[in-house]
Amino acid sequence: MKIQSVTGPVDPQFLQKTMIHEHLVFDLSEVREEKDADSKLENSPELDQEIKRIIESGCNTVVEVSNIGMGRDAKAMFDIAKKHNLVIIASTGFYKESVYPSFVFEKTKEELAEIMIREIEDGMDDTTIKAGLIAEIGSSYQEITETEKKVFEAAILAHKKTGAPISTHCEIGTMGKGQLDLFQENNADMSRISFGHQDLNEDIEEQLELLKSGAFIQFDTVGKNSYRRDSDRLSNLIELLNLGYEDQLMLSCDITRKSHLKSFDGYGYNHLFEDFIPALLNNGVKEETIDKMLVQNPRRFLAF
Ligand SMILES: [Zn+2]
Repeated sequence: MKIQSVTGPVDPQFLQKTMIHEHLVFDLSEVREEKDADSKLENSPELDQEIKRIIESGCNTVVEVSNIGMGRDAKAMFDIAKKHNLVIIASTGFYKESVYPSFVFEKTKEELAEIMIREIEDGMDDTTIKAGLIAEIGSSYQEITETEKKVFEAAILAHKKTGAPISTHCEIGTMGKGQLDLFQENNADMSRISFGHQDLNEDIEEQLELLKSGAFIQFDTVGKNSYRRDSDRLSNLIELLNLGYEDQLMLSCDITRKSHLKSFDGYGYNHLFEDFIPALLNNGVKEETIDKMLVQNPRRFLAF
């Protein structure tokens, strides 16, 4: 079992603290509903500073969940990984209906699965740089459209063929249950699935239903206080930990805008390590539990 990074296979034990759902380089400035220049992240001196900070915090791995149609840049990820000696795991797949390239609507699920399999086995974007997971596979707000359903089924086919894990996008935390139903109807191995943005889901009963399936769930928008206050994330997370789910939780910040970077007065990627983790510790969460969420669980989830 190896973890497939952009610079080659890595032994799972090599992973230290891992951010499970991030974007380093992507471009949604043209496709986002609001069309704004803020939705573009680049290989830049500002990003270099961000990466130096997380490395100083003991993080050596970033799971990059940008995929086809989001301005994903395999070569830039490779360059960043080399420059900083950072493990970057890239993603294949398609995001959500409003961002799909037009061919996604035309192709069958088998054809879409073929594209994902090729990116995992051979490489992305005419390079030999391989994707290491299928992510972020998304649904729309309060709805899984027909085409999104097809993309989920394609992702499950590619997951069965390659063994690669799947990480999802739940728009503002919604539709986790609908995604779970799709995975179960298609006999996906739930221990290889991680549901994204569950810290934005204020329905703890639904969070528990996802966890009881054996899947991982992610508290991956830490710092996005306009969606939900970190203090609420924290109490929700502690409640799940107290119920014994420490082996199925993973953490991240989901940086998606230039204005999230420290250089532009944002909270930055390191917010997870310099603010949120200390707050967990202050609230009685044990170091050992933090280690599971940041290190052990990502190692287990990402290896195939
Ligand atoms: Zn997302």
